[in-house]
Amino acid sequence: MRPARALIDLQALRHNYQLAREVAGVRALAVIKADAYGHGAVRCAQALEDSADGFAVACIEEALELRAAGIRAPILLLEGFFEASELALIVEHDFWCVVHSLWQLEAIEQTAVAKPLTVWLKLDSGMHRVGLHPKDYRAAYERLQASGKVEKIVLMSHFARADELDCPRSSEQVAVFEAARQGLGAEVSLRNSPAVMGWPSVPSDWVRPGIMLYGSTPFEENNSVAARLQPVMTLESKVICVRELPAGEPVGYGAKFITDRPMRIGVVAMGYADGYPRHAPTGTPVLVAGQRSRLLGRVSMDMLCVDLTDVPQAGLGSTVELWGRNILASDVALAAGTIPYQLFCNLRRVPLQYSEG
Ligand SMILES: *Cc1c(COP(=O)(O)O)cnc(C)c1O
Repeated sequence: MRPARALIDLQALRHNYQLAREVAGVRALAVIKADAYGHGAVRCAQALEDSADGFAVACIEEALELRAAGIRAPILLLEGFFEASELALIVEHDFWCVVHSLWQLEAIEQTAVAKPLTVWLKLDSGMHRVGLHPKDYRAAYERLQASGKVEKIVLMSHFARADELDCPRSSEQVAVFEAARQGLGAEVSLRNSPAVMGWPSVPSDWVRPGIMLYGSTPFEENNSVAARLQPVMTLESKVICVRELPAGEPVGYGAKFITDRPMRIGVVAMGYADGYPRHAPTGTPVLVAGQRSRLLGRVSMDMLCVDLTDVPQAGLGSTVELWGRNILASDVALAAGTIPYQLFCNLRRVPLQYSEG
């Protein structure tokens, strides 16, 4: 069978969740949207269920999958509902629901609900994606209270630039949030992973870590919390063919790499159809037979080439780590001009194999 696989270390996932909680000092919703950033939402939720205060997903489809698998913990729908008809299911399954737009508020007012809802009322504090305008926020809160359909409201917002530690924008967003929520006696939630890791003084009763749960850092620079994260996913495969080439020979599609000396090249069963980024250039780090080496030439659909010239112990059948404990996904992402989030979410075709660490 094809040797490409992604090993998922559930013990590392639990470690990272505990770390998020410890650093934040408050309750934490484990963000497992998009199939837990490619790590498998059901298995990740099961691994965390004993310790997690709750989970957050993008939409009701993702939440229903978790309930169907027996997850009883609170689950927040980060985009709320897309149509009012979802409210019956939200009540039936006890989902918590973001309200980010006035149309959602009106839908709640106009729909009969069998049980009162838990609403996370989202403010647009400056990211300008979703969230209520600051001038509408207090009135929305009061209307939800008056609707008789809501038992609890949590005040939330989301940062646009928390991964830029010297940027004043996050502080400006906090100021907008603080002004909008003045006098509203409700719990608050602002912090995603970069804010948990880099913005300790932002007020929070709840944090919403995502990428850090998977052991990857949102920062390009060093960070003391990042140093304590454990990578959860190891994407690996094997060398399926070895070539000895003289200097001056092209390698792969488009001849994007030309040997500059006599070289040994390993062909690895891994390509962009598995989610490995096609834009990763020559030089992107890989680990071959336990030693750091580099990608050579263009990534193709099912295969890619690595440099074995200075890895004499490597040969046919050698294990190659594309990212994981040794080759950080954030470093691969940096080389490929993307972010670790996208690397994880793009994973496909590769079987996930779970271990307890
Ligand atoms: C995805 C998401 C998060 C988690 O973000 P990370 O950067 O992965 O920690 C938190 N809050 C909201 C609203 C999100 O959409």
